[in-house]
Amino acid sequence: MTAKPTCTVPDTDVIVVGAGFAGLYLIHRLKAANLRMRVFEAAPDLGGTWYWNRYPGARVDVPSLDYMYSFDPDWRDDWQWSEKYATQPEILRYLNHVADKHGLRRHITFDTRVERAWWDDDESVWHVRTQHDADITARFLVMATGCLSVPKEIDIDGIDTFTGDVFLTSRWPHEPVDFTGKRVAVVGTGSSAVQSIPVIARDARDVVVFQRTPTFSIPAGNGPVPPDKLELLTADEAAYRRAARASQGGVPVERSLTFTASVSDDERTARYEEIWRKGELLETLNVFADLMTNQDANEQFAEFARDKIRATVTDPATADALCPSGFPFGSKRPCLDTDYYATYNLPHVRLVDLRATPLRHVTETGIETSAESFRFDAMVLATGFDAVTGAITAVDVRGRDGLALNEKWADGPRTYLGLMTAGFPNLFLITGPGSPSVLSNMLVSIEQHVEWVVDGMTDLGHGGFDVIEPTERAEAGWMRHQADSAAITLFPKGNSWYVGANVPGKPQVFLPYPNGVDFYGAACAEVVERDYLGFALSGRAGSRCNDGVIRELQPDAQMVLDQMAALNLPPLESMSVEEARAFHALSRAALPPGPEVAAIEDGVLPGAAGDLAYRLYRPDGRGPHPIVVYFHGGGFVIGDETTDGSLCRDLCARNAAIVISVDYRHAPEHRFPAAMDDGLAAVRWIADHAAALGGDPGRLAVCGWSAGATIAAVVCQLVRDLGGPHICGQVLFTPATDWAATFPSHVENAEGYGLTTALVRWFADHYVDPADRDDPRCSPLRADNLAGLPAAVVVTCEFDPVRDEGDSYAEALAAAGVPTRHIRARGHTHSSLTMVDLVVSGAPVRAEVADALRNLLTTQPSAVA
Ligand code: FAD
Ligand code: NAP
Repeated sequence: MTAKPTCTVPDTDVIVVGAGFAGLYLIHRLKAANLRMRVFEAAPDLGGTWYWNRYPGARVDVPSLDYMYSFDPDWRDDWQWSEKYATQPEILRYLNHVADKHGLRRHITFDTRVERAWWDDDESVWHVRTQHDADITARFLVMATGCLSVPKEIDIDGIDTFTGDVFLTSRWPHEPVDFTGKRVAVVGTGSSAVQSIPVIARDARDVVVFQRTPTFSIPAGNGPVPPDKLELLTADEAAYRRAARASQGGVPVERSLTFTASVSDDERTARYEEIWRKGELLETLNVFADLMTNQDANEQFAEFARDKIRATVTDPATADALCPSGFPFGSKRPCLDTDYYATYNLPHVRLVDLRATPLRHVTETGIETSAESFRFDAMVLATGFDAVTGAITAVDVRGRDGLALNEKWADGPRTYLGLMTAGFPNLFLITGPGSPSVLSNMLVSIEQHVEWVVDGMTDLGHGGFDVIEPTERAEAGWMRHQADSAAITLFPKGNSWYVGANVPGKPQVFLPYPNGVDFYGAACAEVVERDYLGFALSGRAGSRCNDGVIRELQPDAQMVLDQMAALNLPPLESMSVEEARAFHALSRAALPPGPEVAAIEDGVLPGAAGDLAYRLYRPDGRGPHPIVVYFHGGGFVIGDETTDGSLCRDLCARNAAIVISVDYRHAPEHRFPAAMDDGLAAVRWIADHAAALGGDPGRLAVCGWSAGATIAAVVCQLVRDLGGPHICGQVLFTPATDWAATFPSHVENAEGYGLTTALVRWFADHYVDPADRDDPRCSPLRADNLAGLPAAVVVTCEFDPVRDEGDSYAEALAAAGVPTRHIRARGHTHSSLTMVDLVVSGAPVRAEVADALRNLLTTQPSAVA
């Protein structure tokens, strides 16, 4: 492409829309970057959220010390927070104080709504039109319009007929509202309602709360700023803020690595109580590592929270109605409250459960439900927002070739990193959809975005470019990563504004990025380090497109790799065999245990040259059950019958099959073909003793992972040639099938995905002489004939050095007429599918395997039939 010069001198460099926390920080950074700017704000003054939401009781629910700018290092000289959770007036004072201290206000044009914006491709400028019909041009347009700034349209029948006062929490009047002696209705029980109800109830004569969906709320334990927190921050503020950015939620707390099921009941309850006492929302979501990924773990905490409601609210029917159910804790944004539940014990406060008696309509004098007519003097609507996208799509934004953003996002927003969207050059979104935004401490997310955007503008200038735009491929990759990330959590399982469910007709997609500000920040930084991966740049210096996808691994597989990398351990192949075995055993033991099974029994069976230990996993229900003989992974060098316990439990539970994990002799003590001989001996013995083990001799399958899959594959070839026993299916997870050849995946995936090609070589050297590597008992892909083998399920993983061997084996089996189901696990690594309950994204793959295996166990011809 040739360079496209920009001709017109635009009116300014950057137009910023919005003067809340984000807009103000943009002004500060743009000033420092010597960029000219115009900032438009619809409100008469600055503050955004904290300008508009003045309802009684409005306050922050992230500790004030965390919910503040970090760019002002000497803030303590002229500011201090009066409470752990500051009120709206105090936050607004803080914002005004910062704006005045840093000279930000003079850049803002107030009372000016931006209504239209269109990209002029010839001039490479944005045209922006305001409500006053002014047209301004700029090179960059930044939407700092807020995630929660457009109130949801009021969708309550007859609201206009009410003759009393109607107050919207998000558009509260500036004059004090006096509810003394008044009968007040509150509609809604989200955060705004939860904060305002106890305060309104202090003055009002009667308060009736109309609740459609009960909410989970945690007592804030508000009070003075906790001295220990202040001390921690004062000791090293830079480190404190760094820790916040390196955290999951944007407050300086390390990610929990403890799983709910891995502690005793007493310890679990103690942790729940401790976090409840602390009264911190983002820390609560981190109480156990699996709170938002495991339904059972979540339900345990949800029940704990319900018990707290029941213990506080004296009327059992009201308590019951206030207890949320039918959606996981955290999937609708939980609230932080002061005396919310206790307020329902006051004689003049009443809850109306709209699920039992729906709201029919508003009348001149009050509200009618299906059961009752109510009279009110005032109504408070705490009915929420058109969240995350509402303020962006409220502006008529047109990109390249007149493309309307609303059209592009008709089925849900599409962005790269939540920061930009393809087809809309030089348009930046602060905390846009696809970024952590509302799942995080917004201050941390806002600062990170503003810095990325302004640094990006500066980098662009330094590189001689004027225009930046994400590629379609990068955006599609991020959207897939966003969907993968949401799918492994419970977040999308509530009908909340997180998925747009509160706004009729809004496309329902999960809007914020759920992996945390730490992983998200790392992706943004990596995009820059990799020379703006996924972006096309153009301008005076010419045009350049660095197309690519920033995150291709399944998010949880990536997290495991990142956590391992952070430990900075020596590679396994640099250890002695004994050290490697001990390390492997330790790391496998640290995995979540996997699902419950009816029984686990240990035993020994005769191998080819002595006894072999086995561990049997028995399913629920009456037998006889099918039997799956399982061979563990570990490169023929490490591991034993216990090390793949969670995968065996998973196979057992999903297939209602007895799974017998058999050990075998390992190298270097026992080199090839010892493991194969043991594998064959084990299968024969189990087939002979199937009935005694509680199994069905006619339904025997073999399965293995990695080297264990190689054993399973080889055993199938051997029993075919030896004439028995009958095996009705083979399930091969990431099998190594050819130790003699080099495949492209050995090179492509050589490093960075857990199993390395160097480690594969280390295993091979311990296990088998080079001269034997093309023996089909070592490399089953090399067998002359694959016909007549048991039906197969072959699972290969995208980011695995041995992927291509597995793919080749699946293809060769199918070509030889073996019924073969080949499952290619996108975004997975060699080991990730075995990390049950840790790499949750593996569950659908294992479910697919289980479907296929159940099919084999029921439809393949039986040996005893
Ligand atoms: P906003 O503060 O929403 O500012 C956006 C501004 O853009 C607004 O002033 C709006 O008028 C203006 N604007 C929008 N469209 C246009 C247009 N077309 N033309 C001109 N101007 C426009 N987050 C937390 O992390 N912790 C909390 O405790 C917390 N509490 C909250 C409490 C309430 C009541 C609400 C509603 C939100 C809360 N949030 C909280 C989220 C909060 O929105 C963010 O923390 C933060 O204030 C957002 O700042 P912002 O500048 O991005 O957006
Ligand atoms: P919200 O969480 O969306 O709650 C809106 C409430 O109104 C819900 O209970 C909803 O019920 C109900 N509702 C909506 N339309 C209704 C109708 N037609 N009839 C009956 N009920 C109706 O909105 P919010 O409370 O303003 O909070 C939004 C977000 O802002 C919060 O989640 C939080 O992120 C932020 N916020 C934070 C704080 C804080 O503590 N710092 C305070 C306020 C807001 P359904 O659930 O059934 O739809």
